[in-house]
Amino acid sequence: MNLFVTGGVGFIGTNFVRLALERGHHILNYDALTYAGSQSNVADLEGNTHQFVHGNICDVQKVRETFKAGFAGKAFDAVINFAAESHVDRSIYGARLFSETNMVGVATLIEAAREAGVPTFIQISTDEVYGSLGSSGLFTLDSSLKPSNPYSASKTAGDLIALSIYHTWGYDVRITRCTNNYGAYQFPEKFVPLIITNAIRGEKISVYGDGMNVRDWIYVRDHCEGIFAVLERGTAGSTYLFGGSTEKPNIELCRTVLSEIAKLTNVSPDSLFDLMHHVADRPGHDKRYAIDWSRTEKEIGWKPTTSFDDGLQETVQWYIRNRSWWELLLHK
Ligand code: NAD
Repeated sequence: MNLFVTGGVGFIGTNFVRLALERGHHILNYDALTYAGSQSNVADLEGNTHQFVHGNICDVQKVRETFKAGFAGKAFDAVINFAAESHVDRSIYGARLFSETNMVGVATLIEAAREAGVPTFIQISTDEVYGSLGSSGLFTLDSSLKPSNPYSASKTAGDLIALSIYHTWGYDVRITRCTNNYGAYQFPEKFVPLIITNAIRGEKISVYGDGMNVRDWIYVRDHCEGIFAVLERGTAGSTYLFGGSTEKPNIELCRTVLSEIAKLTNVSPDSLFDLMHHVADRPGHDKRYAIDWSRTEKEIGWKPTTSFDDGLQETVQWYIRNRSWWELLLHK
C-alpha cells in the first residue's frame, strides 16, 4: 500500500514506518520536525519505498499539494496521522500550540485527504481522552470523554472532528486509542527514557507526588501491529482500544527500569535508586489509566504479544547502545 504517514519521525511514527517498510509498504513521511521529531531516525531509509517531506499538518496548501503528488505519482491508499504535540507537561504551559496541531491540524489533514479521494484515514489517539480512573475499573468504548489537561482535551477535539467527518460525509475514518507506549526512539522527556538517560548520566530522577499514579504500559511494536490490524481489518467510523494490561504505579515503574539498567550495566541497583526524588505533583495529574482492549481482539484479532520484561530489556539496551542519539536531544 501507499501510506501517507504524518509524524513519522517521532517516537511511534518511526517505529511504525520501520515496520511498514519491512512489510513492503511505500511510505510518504510528512513531518514538521518539531523538537520531538528527528529526521536522522529514518536517514537510513531514504530510497524507492520511503520519501520524507518536511511539512506542517496545519498548512493547507502543502498538505493538498502533497496528496496531489502522491507517492511517486501513485495515489495514497490511507493516511495514518501520528503528528501531534504529545507531552502533557508542555501542554500545561502551551494549550494554544496543542490546540492548533492536535485539533486544527487534524481538521486540515482530514479535509484534504477526503478531497483528494484517499480511501481511509486513521487517527492515532490516546486513552487520555477518557480522563482518569479511580482505583478500579477499565476504560471501554462506553466510557465518557472527560479529558483533564490541554493535551488530552486537544486530542479529544481531534477525535471528534475526525468522527464528525465520518458522520457527515461517510468518509472512512478510524480511531485508535492506546495507553502509554515505551520502546526505542522515544524522546528523552518522556518518563521511561527520562529514567534511563538520567540514570546512565547519574542525574536525579524526579517522581511526581507520591509516585502512586498508575499507567498501563504497552511495547511500541505491539501498538504498531495494532494499527496494521486497524488498517487491514478495521471498519469505517470505528474506534479501537489498545493496551498492554501492564499497570504500574510510577514509583514501581521507576524501580523496575532502574533494576534493568543495573542488571545490564553491572552497577548496584541501590546506587540507582538513590537518584529518585519526589517533586511536587503535576497540576491536574490523572490518577490512573487502564483499558479494556478485549473488543479490539474480538473484532480485528489483535492482542499484545511482548511481555513487559522483554520489551523493557530491549528498550534499555537500545538506549545504552544509542547514547549519541539521545545526547543530541537533551537540550531541545
Ligand atoms: P512524538 O511527540 O514523539 O512525535 C510527534 C511527531 O509529530 C514528531 O515527529 C513531530 O515533529 C511531529 N509533529 C508535531 N507537530 C506537527 C505538525 N503540526 N505537523 C507535522 N508534524 C508534526 O509523539 P508520539 O509519542 O510518537 O505519539 C504519536 C501519536 O500517538 C500522537 O498523536 C499521540 O497523541 C499518540 N499517542 C502516543 C502515546 C505514547 O505513549 N507516546 C500513547 C497513545 C497515543
